[in-house]
Amino acid sequence: MKAMAAVLYAPKKIRVETIQLPEPGPRDVLLELKKATLCPTDIKKYNADKPDVASALRNIGDYVLGHEAAGLVLRVGSEVTGARPGDAVAVQPMIPCGQCAYCRQGKTNMCLNLLGIGASAGSFTDCVKYYHATGVGGCYATHLKAPASCVIPLPEGLSLEAASLVEPLGDVVHSVDAAGTGKNDRVVIIGMGPMGLMHVPAARYNGADDIICVDIDDTRLDVAKRLGAKAVVNAALEDPVARVKELTDGLGASKVFVASGGRAQLPCTLQALKMTAKQGTVSLFASAALDTDDLRVSMNLIHYNMLTLTGTVGFGREHGEKALRMLASGILDHTIIRNREFPLSQIEEVISLYGKGENLKLGLDLTRI
Ligand SMILES: [Zn+2]
Ligand SMILES: [Zn+2]
Repeated sequence: MKAMAAVLYAPKKIRVETIQLPEPGPRDVLLELKKATLCPTDIKKYNADKPDVASALRNIGDYVLGHEAAGLVLRVGSEVTGARPGDAVAVQPMIPCGQCAYCRQGKTNMCLNLLGIGASAGSFTDCVKYYHATGVGGCYATHLKAPASCVIPLPEGLSLEAASLVEPLGDVVHSVDAAGTGKNDRVVIIGMGPMGLMHVPAARYNGADDIICVDIDDTRLDVAKRLGAKAVVNAALEDPVARVKELTDGLGASKVFVASGGRAQLPCTLQALKMTAKQGTVSLFASAALDTDDLRVSMNLIHYNMLTLTGTVGFGREHGEKALRMLASGILDHTIIRNREFPLSQIEEVISLYGKGENLKLGLDLTRI
């Protein structure tokens, strides 16, 4: 069977070409991928956001990006018991070492030697080395070899297209669950990129229905309403702290998620702390730009209000499984988030379109080259 992949040779240089079909090892599976979804992490790698991307591609070899995908199991290794050929599965892209102090406590997303399918976790250089040593690369391909622990079976009736959102949604489920979000919460989400938007149905899935969304783009705020936000605040037009207080009887919100990253994260985090109710939680979901100033915050604000300031990164298998159940429940119409799809050969065009206009998550149909 012919296998094709979008191979990254150098920064901003991808060729879609035939690759050798990888052979699964005893604990691996070989997947025939059907649907993938683009992630900003991939675009950063494509643009060589860090110097090690260019040097790894030059000195170690080419690489296949992509870590948000779903497909069918084609072959399984001799020791694999949890998956069978023909199973529909979603890719859980994190590859923990299983040996370090965090892995031994079951905190695999904190693994000290973490690697990721499609370089979604760990250092890019280590992921490229791993690919050339084992054949485990990324998902912008018709086939993927992966450790069997990296696949999660789909609930009955869930489409592969929806399931290709398991990684971003697993991160969101982790964020919402780690903050203990439930039905008595008043929730604020700041930043309506695809990840912030997916916090709306994830909070609703946990029973919270009093959800306020903050952004500076009315189009994104309209999407938040379609996903179930009760109120929206355009922070370019009104003070989000005052407006949230007004909408919460002067108390503030009990759970505030900052899903606005880059340079916007610092001002958004300061606003978040000021709009949080006593004993509330502020959780940093997005990551700040590397050159962002450190946060300076009043210690008495935290002390007297008993605030919790925390963050989450990655997700565990249980969050991935819950994300799939959530998609199967219909609470999130995935086509609102993954709102366009292209054939694999158009990957560079898709990268250039990401985040522009009404584009949210952009999909790849891997059955069309
Ligand atoms: Zn991703
Ligand atoms: Zn580990």
